[in-house]
Amino acid sequence: MGQVYLTGAGPGDMELLTLKALRVVKIADVIIYDRLANPEILKEAKKDCEFVYVGKEDGRHILPQDEINETIYQKALKYDVVVRLKGGDPFVFGRGGEEGMYLKNKGVSFEIIPGITSAISVPAYAGIPVTSRGVAVSFRVVTGHETPNKTDSQIDWKSFKNNETIIFLMGLHNIQTICKKLISIGKSKDCPIAVISKGTTKEQKTIVSTLQNIPKEAKKLPTPALIVIGEVVKLRDELNWFED
Ligand code: SAH
Repeated sequence: MGQVYLTGAGPGDMELLTLKALRVVKIADVIIYDRLANPEILKEAKKDCEFVYVGKEDGRHILPQDEINETIYQKALKYDVVVRLKGGDPFVFGRGGEEGMYLKNKGVSFEIIPGITSAISVPAYAGIPVTSRGVAVSFRVVTGHETPNKTDSQIDWKSFKNNETIIFLMGLHNIQTICKKLISIGKSKDCPIAVISKGTTKEQKTIVSTLQNIPKEAKKLPTPALIVIGEVVKLRDELNWFED
């Protein structure tokens, strides 16, 4: 029985891959990967390493999750070193927990290699600190996958504070409804919002606006993209370092 590594690939910039992730990529017999932020990582693998693409777009797997779980298990029966490589961090909307539990049930040994999540690093590359003294005392990473006007929403919309940064992952297609919802629960129409596409890569693009005015073009930005909402977005005026 092989050893499985549920591994974070980081947000895109190859240099944001951890040393530990790189070490297991180099010794992997098989790498099971999503639509990765940076496919260059695969070039670090051994010559005879097998690659299995289990595609993931906008948080939605092309292969159903139970088939991915089973694929990882089958590869663990066949190989010594199995790397399950995922964008960002495997436990931040990465379904790493489900994969770990499946393996545990099957008696397969696994390790988690955390990755640098896009939730924090992508805003950083857009010059937006997720917390800042006197501006935001906390930040929340929220799924944007849920339709915000859903009556059985699992998100506690009313609990968002004004001195808190909200980061929506997988939310681009819902952006208009997210903004409307936040205004309807009392957030200022002028609250700053940034949409960052392909963060930490050479194609990074950021649109800054307000909850009320977020332009239709934002929705058309290429994915992956995330949404940052809160006063910290204004700090970009001074801190934007990467796109310049
Ligand atoms: N486990 C990942 C998140 C998976 S959900 C992590 O920790 O980063 C996928 C969502 O992450 C995308 O819909 C998008 O909102 C966000 N995302 C991932 N990489 C990104 C990038 N380079 N730029 C902008 N958003 C990104």
